[in-house]
Formats: sequence, C-alpha cells, structure tokens
Amino acid sequence: MGCIFCKIIEGKIPSTAVYQDDFGCAVADINPKAPVHVLIVPHEHIGSLNEAGEDHRALLGHLLWAAPEIARKKGLTKGYRIVVNTGEGGEQTADNLHLHLLGDRALNRPPGSGHGIGSSQ
Ligand code: AMP
Repeated sequence: MGCIFCKIIEGKIPSTAVYQDDFGCAVADINPKAPVHVLIVPHEHIGSLNEAGEDHRALLGHLLWAAPEIARKKGLTKGYRIVVNTGEGGEQTADNLHLHLLGDRALNRPPGSGHGIGSSQ
C-alpha cells in the first residue's frame, strides 16, 4: 500500500491543500471530525512521533509553529485543538507522523475522551 501521506505529497492521491512550506504541508482530512479538520504532515516520512529523532527537533518545532499560521488562515479566532495520535495505543491509523488541527466546534473535555478524535460521545 505505501504511506498515504507520502502519496498525497507526491500528488499521487488528490487532496485539498491548505498550507505548504519547505518543511511540510497541510491538507483537509478526508473524514473530518470537526468543521475545520486539517492534517499537518512533514515532507520527510517519519513513521510516528516515536520515530522522530534528535535530527527532527527543528522539524517538530516547525510543524507546531505552522499550526497557528494555519488556524489563522482558517479563521479559528476562538482557538483549536492539536492532536498527535501515536502508535497503536494512541489509535494512530496512518503510518506517517501528522498533527490533527481541529476547530470551529465545541471540543469535549478532557481531550481524547469519547471514541475517536474530538468525538463528543
Ligand atoms: P490517525 O488515525 O491519527 O492516524 O489519522 C489519520 C487521518 O488521516 C484520519 O483522520 C483519516 O480520516 C485521514 N485520512 C486518511 N486518508 C486520507 C486522505 N486520502 N486524505 C486526507 N485525509 C486522509
């Protein structure tokens, strides 16, 4: 199958681009859990947050830095949530590090309660 996000970055799978820079890109989630649900993905393939190493410190910081830039572009003036599902225990389903940016609706507390990202169940 290969990595779905690498295919998106290579243009082999269509996506709705929201943001792009030298380090990564952001695309709309195909199955959104909120009115704004964007995935921030590094250009470099990194299997998960657990596989990020010392060399990735700047990249990780950059992806987090990009989040408010993207949130502003999407008009999320009241705030938003960043989620990084990691590994099987974190219910990560796509084998590439990515940040979920969720907003424009009430998000339940505590983060991660209910089933699935941002679920209100
Ligand atoms: P996770 O479960 O944290 O690994 O998140 C993977 C996310 O990728 C899910 O929210 C999916 O809806 C999303 N997704 C899967 N395939 C695509 C795709 N082709 N384009 C955009 N988002 C996708």
